[in-house]
Amino acid sequence: KAKKHLGQHFLTDETIAKDIADALTENGYDNILEIGPGMGVLTKYLLQKKVKTTVLELDRESVAYLKDVFPVEHLNLNTSKEKFAIIEGDFLKQNIEEIFNKKQVAIIGNFPYNISTQIVFKAIENREFVPEFAGMFQKEVAMRIAEKEGSKVYGILSVLTQAFFDVEYLFTVPPTVFNPPPKVDSGVIRLIRKKDYSLPVDEKFFFRVVKTAFNQRRKMLRTSLKSFKLSDTLKEDPIFARRPEQLSVLEFISLTQKLAENGI
Ligand code: SAM
Repeated sequence: KAKKHLGQHFLTDETIAKDIADALTENGYDNILEIGPGMGVLTKYLLQKKVKTTVLELDRESVAYLKDVFPVEHLNLNTSKEKFAIIEGDFLKQNIEEIFNKKQVAIIGNFPYNISTQIVFKAIENREFVPEFAGMFQKEVAMRIAEKEGSKVYGILSVLTQAFFDVEYLFTVPPTVFNPPPKVDSGVIRLIRKKDYSLPVDEKFFFRVVKTAFNQRRKMLRTSLKSFKLSDTLKEDPIFARRPEQLSVLEFISLTQKLAENGI
Protein backbone atom coordinates (compact mmCIF):
# COMPACT_ATOMS: atom_id res chain seq x y z
CA LYS A 1 0.00 0.00 0.00
CA ALA A 2 1.34 3.44 -0.96
CA LYS A 3 2.54 5.67 1.88
CA LYS A 4 1.33 9.19 1.45
CA HIS A 5 3.88 10.86 3.73
CA LEU A 6 6.67 9.41 1.54
CA GLY A 7 5.10 10.84 -1.62
CA GLN A 8 4.55 7.36 -3.00
CA HIS A 9 2.85 7.27 -6.39
CA PHE A 10 3.97 4.20 -8.28
CA LEU A 11 4.32 4.38 -12.03
CA THR A 12 2.34 1.64 -13.79
CA ASP A 13 3.30 2.36 -17.41
CA GLU A 14 6.40 0.52 -18.65
CA THR A 15 6.84 2.67 -21.76
CA ILE A 16 6.97 5.83 -19.67
CA ALA A 17 9.37 4.18 -17.21
CA LYS A 18 11.68 3.35 -20.11
CA ASP A 19 11.34 6.88 -21.53
CA ILE A 20 12.40 8.35 -18.18
CA ALA A 21 15.42 6.02 -17.99
CA ASP A 22 16.28 7.01 -21.56
CA ALA A 23 16.39 10.66 -20.53
CA LEU A 24 19.91 10.02 -19.30
CA THR A 25 22.66 10.32 -21.90
CA GLU A 26 25.07 7.40 -21.81
CA ASN A 27 28.26 9.41 -21.29
CA GLY A 28 30.12 11.53 -18.82
CA TYR A 29 29.57 9.69 -15.55
CA ASP A 30 30.64 6.52 -13.72
CA ASN A 31 27.52 5.92 -11.65
CA ILE A 32 23.76 6.29 -11.75
CA LEU A 33 21.92 7.14 -8.55
CA GLU A 34 18.19 6.55 -8.51
CA ILE A 35 16.32 8.35 -5.75
CA GLY A 36 13.17 6.62 -4.49
CA PRO A 37 13.07 3.43 -6.60
CA GLY A 38 9.89 2.19 -4.90
CA MET A 39 9.05 -1.11 -6.59
CA GLY A 40 11.83 -0.72 -9.14
CA VAL A 41 9.84 0.14 -12.24
CA LEU A 42 12.57 2.55 -13.43
CA THR A 43 15.38 0.53 -11.89
CA LYS A 44 15.14 -2.37 -14.30
CA TYR A 45 15.74 -0.06 -17.27
CA LEU A 46 18.63 1.67 -15.52
CA LEU A 47 20.26 -1.73 -14.97
CA GLN A 48 20.47 -2.18 -18.73
CA LYS A 49 22.93 0.71 -18.93
CA LYS A 50 26.64 0.15 -18.82
CA VAL A 51 27.54 1.90 -15.57
CA LYS A 52 26.77 0.89 -12.02
CA THR A 53 23.33 1.79 -10.62
CA THR A 54 22.81 2.60 -6.95
CA VAL A 55 19.29 3.02 -5.63
CA LEU A 56 18.48 4.99 -2.51
CA GLU A 57 15.13 4.39 -0.85
CA LEU A 58 13.75 5.60 2.47
CA ASP A 59 10.93 3.08 2.74
CA ARG A 60 12.10 -0.14 4.46
CA GLU A 61 9.34 -2.20 2.88
CA SER A 62 10.34 -1.11 -0.62
CA VAL A 63 13.98 -1.89 0.17
CA ALA A 64 13.05 -5.43 1.26
CA TYR A 65 11.03 -5.87 -1.92
CA LEU A 66 13.87 -4.60 -4.12
CA LYS A 67 16.36 -6.95 -2.48
CA ASP A 68 14.03 -9.79 -3.36
CA VAL A 69 13.41 -8.78 -6.96
CA PHE A 70 16.93 -7.60 -7.85
CA PRO A 71 19.27 -9.94 -5.98
CA VAL A 72 22.62 -8.24 -5.97
CA GLU A 73 24.65 -11.50 -6.01
CA HIS A 74 22.93 -12.65 -9.17
CA LEU A 75 23.83 -9.48 -11.02
CA ASN A 76 27.45 -9.91 -10.02
CA LEU A 77 27.78 -13.39 -11.51
CA ASN A 78 29.10 -12.45 -14.90
CA THR A 79 31.10 -9.36 -14.14
CA SER A 80 33.95 -8.74 -11.83
CA LYS A 81 32.52 -5.29 -11.22
CA GLU A 82 29.60 -4.66 -8.95
CA LYS A 83 26.72 -3.48 -11.07
CA PHE A 84 24.04 -2.69 -8.51
CA ALA A 85 23.67 -1.47 -4.93
CA ILE A 86 20.74 -0.73 -2.67
CA ILE A 87 20.99 1.85 0.10
CA GLU A 88 18.27 2.39 2.66
CA GLY A 89 18.10 6.02 3.73
CA ASP A 90 16.96 9.59 3.24
CA PHE A 91 18.52 11.20 0.16
CA LEU A 92 18.58 14.60 1.82
CA LYS A 93 20.87 13.24 4.54
CA GLN A 94 23.38 11.48 2.28
CA ASN A 95 26.88 12.60 1.42
CA ILE A 96 27.08 12.09 -2.34
CA GLU A 97 30.77 12.85 -2.52
CA GLU A 98 31.49 10.12 0.03
CA ILE A 99 29.13 7.43 -1.29
CA PHE A 100 30.57 7.70 -4.79
CA ASN A 101 34.13 8.38 -3.79
CA LYS A 102 34.26 11.72 -5.65
CA LYS A 103 33.26 10.00 -8.90
CA GLN A 104 30.77 11.52 -11.33
CA VAL A 105 27.18 10.41 -10.76
CA ALA A 106 24.03 10.94 -12.81
CA ILE A 107 20.97 11.39 -10.60
CA ILE A 108 17.55 10.20 -11.71
CA GLY A 109 14.16 9.41 -10.22
CA ASN A 110 10.45 9.67 -10.15
CA PHE A 111 10.89 11.98 -7.23
CA PRO A 112 8.76 12.20 -4.08
CA TYR A 113 7.00 15.51 -4.70
CA ASN A 114 7.13 16.71 -1.10
CA ILE A 115 10.94 17.06 -1.24
CA SER A 116 11.50 17.56 -4.97
CA THR A 117 12.83 21.13 -4.83
CA GLN A 118 15.18 20.16 -1.98
CA ILE A 119 16.46 17.35 -4.20
CA VAL A 120 17.25 19.88 -6.97
CA PHE A 121 19.04 22.21 -4.55
CA LYS A 122 21.09 19.31 -3.25
CA ALA A 123 22.06 18.37 -6.81
CA ILE A 124 23.09 21.99 -7.45
CA GLU A 125 25.19 22.03 -4.27
CA ASN A 126 26.91 18.83 -5.37
CA ARG A 127 27.30 19.85 -9.01
CA GLU A 128 31.00 19.12 -9.00
CA PHE A 129 30.02 15.44 -8.91
CA VAL A 130 26.68 15.62 -10.75
CA PRO A 131 27.08 16.15 -14.52
CA GLU A 132 23.53 15.10 -15.24
CA PHE A 133 20.18 15.02 -13.48
CA ALA A 134 16.89 13.77 -14.89
CA GLY A 135 13.53 12.87 -13.54
CA MET A 136 9.89 13.39 -12.91
CA PHE A 137 8.40 16.26 -10.93
CA GLN A 138 4.99 17.81 -10.52
CA LYS A 139 4.55 19.48 -13.90
CA GLU A 140 4.48 22.92 -12.36
CA VAL A 141 7.79 22.37 -10.59
CA ALA A 142 9.36 20.92 -13.75
CA MET A 143 8.29 24.08 -15.57
CA ARG A 144 9.60 26.34 -12.82
CA ILE A 145 13.00 24.70 -13.27
CA ALA A 146 12.97 24.80 -17.07
CA GLU A 147 11.32 28.09 -18.05
CA LYS A 148 13.13 31.21 -19.21
CA GLU A 149 12.69 34.87 -18.26
CA GLY A 150 9.30 36.33 -19.13
CA SER A 151 7.44 33.15 -18.19
CA LYS A 152 4.95 33.30 -15.33
CA VAL A 153 6.70 30.50 -13.46
CA TYR A 154 10.27 31.78 -14.00
CA GLY A 155 11.75 32.35 -10.55
CA ILE A 156 14.39 31.43 -7.98
CA LEU A 157 14.44 27.76 -8.93
CA SER A 158 14.86 28.59 -12.65
CA VAL A 159 17.72 31.03 -12.14
CA LEU A 160 19.66 28.98 -9.59
CA THR A 161 19.37 25.80 -11.66
CA GLN A 162 20.08 27.38 -15.04
CA ALA A 163 23.16 29.18 -13.73
CA PHE A 164 24.86 25.77 -13.64
CA PHE A 165 22.82 23.43 -15.85
CA ASP A 166 21.20 23.46 -19.28
CA VAL A 167 17.63 22.38 -18.69
CA GLU A 168 15.32 20.64 -21.10
CA TYR A 169 11.63 19.92 -20.53
CA LEU A 170 11.11 16.48 -22.09
CA PHE A 171 7.47 15.38 -21.73
CA THR A 172 4.29 15.54 -19.66
CA VAL A 173 2.84 12.53 -17.85
CA PRO A 174 -0.87 12.30 -16.88
CA PRO A 175 -2.04 11.22 -13.39
CA THR A 176 -3.72 8.10 -14.83
CA VAL A 177 -0.46 6.13 -15.12
CA PHE A 178 0.24 6.16 -11.38
CA ASN A 179 -1.06 4.12 -8.49
CA PRO A 180 -2.45 5.97 -6.61
CA PRO A 181 -2.91 8.80 -9.14
CA PRO A 182 -1.60 12.21 -8.00
CA LYS A 183 -3.89 15.23 -8.29
CA VAL A 184 -1.83 16.97 -10.97
CA ASP A 185 0.11 16.32 -14.18
CA SER A 186 3.78 15.43 -13.95
CA GLY A 187 6.68 16.59 -16.11
CA VAL A 188 10.00 14.98 -16.96
CA ILE A 189 13.07 17.17 -17.34
CA ARG A 190 16.79 16.72 -17.94
CA LEU A 191 19.62 18.90 -16.62
CA ILE A 192 23.06 18.76 -18.19
CA ARG A 193 25.83 20.54 -16.32
CA LYS A 194 27.37 23.44 -18.23
CA LYS A 195 31.00 23.15 -19.33
CA ASP A 196 31.84 26.05 -17.10
CA TYR A 197 29.78 25.67 -13.96
CA SER A 198 31.64 28.11 -11.77
CA LEU A 199 30.28 31.61 -11.21
CA PRO A 200 32.32 34.82 -11.69
CA VAL A 201 30.72 36.03 -8.45
CA ASP A 202 30.43 34.74 -4.91
CA GLU A 203 27.84 31.98 -4.99
CA LYS A 204 26.21 32.75 -1.64
CA PHE A 205 25.86 36.41 -2.57
CA PHE A 206 24.38 35.46 -5.97
CA PHE A 207 21.79 33.22 -4.26
CA ARG A 208 20.95 36.05 -1.85
CA VAL A 209 20.47 38.58 -4.66
CA VAL A 210 18.22 36.23 -6.64
CA LYS A 211 16.12 35.31 -3.63
CA THR A 212 15.74 38.91 -2.47
CA ALA A 213 14.78 40.07 -5.97
CA PHE A 214 12.08 37.43 -6.34
CA ASN A 215 10.63 38.11 -2.91
CA GLN A 216 8.80 40.92 -4.67
CA ARG A 217 8.58 39.65 -8.21
CA ARG A 218 6.30 42.42 -9.49
CA LYS A 219 8.45 45.27 -8.18
CA MET A 220 11.34 47.00 -9.90
CA LEU A 221 14.73 45.86 -8.69
CA ARG A 222 15.52 49.24 -7.16
CA THR A 223 12.61 48.58 -4.79
CA SER A 224 13.00 44.86 -4.17
CA LEU A 225 16.75 45.24 -3.57
CA LYS A 226 16.35 48.21 -1.22
CA SER A 227 17.86 46.25 1.67
CA PHE A 228 21.18 46.21 -0.25
CA LYS A 229 21.41 50.00 0.26
CA LEU A 230 22.01 50.91 -3.39
CA SER A 231 23.89 54.14 -3.96
CA ASP A 232 22.17 56.89 -5.98
CA THR A 233 24.46 56.36 -8.96
CA LEU A 234 23.86 52.62 -8.93
CA LYS A 235 20.10 53.20 -8.82
CA GLU A 236 20.35 55.07 -12.12
CA ASP A 237 21.61 51.97 -13.91
CA PRO A 238 18.69 50.91 -16.15
CA ILE A 239 18.85 47.34 -14.87
CA PHE A 240 17.29 48.49 -11.59
CA ALA A 241 14.19 49.74 -13.40
CA ARG A 242 13.42 46.19 -14.47
CA ARG A 243 11.53 43.43 -12.68
CA PRO A 244 13.20 40.15 -11.63
CA GLU A 245 11.00 38.03 -13.89
CA GLN A 246 12.41 39.91 -16.92
CA LEU A 247 16.08 39.24 -16.15
CA SER A 248 17.95 36.37 -17.80
CA VAL A 249 20.32 34.23 -15.78
CA LEU A 250 23.31 36.05 -17.29
CA GLU A 251 21.75 39.39 -16.36
CA PHE A 252 21.31 38.16 -12.79
CA ILE A 253 25.00 37.31 -12.74
CA SER A 254 26.00 40.73 -14.06
CA LEU A 255 23.60 42.40 -11.62
CA THR A 256 25.35 40.54 -8.80
CA GLN A 257 28.72 41.66 -10.19
CA LYS A 258 27.57 45.28 -10.23
CA LEU A 259 26.47 45.06 -6.61
CA ALA A 260 29.76 43.42 -5.62
CA GLU A 261 31.81 46.04 -7.49
CA ASN A 262 29.98 48.71 -5.56
CA GLY A 263 31.02 47.19 -2.29
CA ILE A 264 27.61 45.73 -1.46
N1 SAM B 1 10.32 5.10 -8.61
C1 SAM B 1 9.04 4.55 -8.18
C2 SAM B 1 8.06 4.61 -9.33
O1 SAM B 1 8.33 5.34 -10.29
O2 SAM B 1 7.04 3.93 -9.27
C3 SAM B 1 8.49 5.29 -6.96
C4 SAM B 1 8.25 6.75 -7.12
S1 SAM B 1 7.43 7.54 -5.76
C5 SAM B 1 6.81 8.99 -6.55
C6 SAM B 1 8.72 8.24 -4.74
C7 SAM B 1 9.60 7.24 -3.98
O3 SAM B 1 10.56 7.96 -3.18
C8 SAM B 1 8.86 6.34 -3.00
O4 SAM B 1 9.26 5.01 -3.21
C9 SAM B 1 9.29 6.84 -1.61
O5 SAM B 1 9.31 5.82 -0.64
C10 SAM B 1 10.69 7.36 -1.90
N2 SAM B 1 11.16 8.41 -0.97
C11 SAM B 1 10.43 9.34 -0.31
N3 SAM B 1 11.21 10.17 0.39
C12 SAM B 1 12.50 9.77 0.17
C13 SAM B 1 13.77 10.22 0.64
N4 SAM B 1 13.87 11.28 1.47
N5 SAM B 1 14.89 9.58 0.23
C14 SAM B 1 14.80 8.50 -0.59
N6 SAM B 1 13.62 8.03 -1.08
C15 SAM B 1 12.48 8.64 -0.69
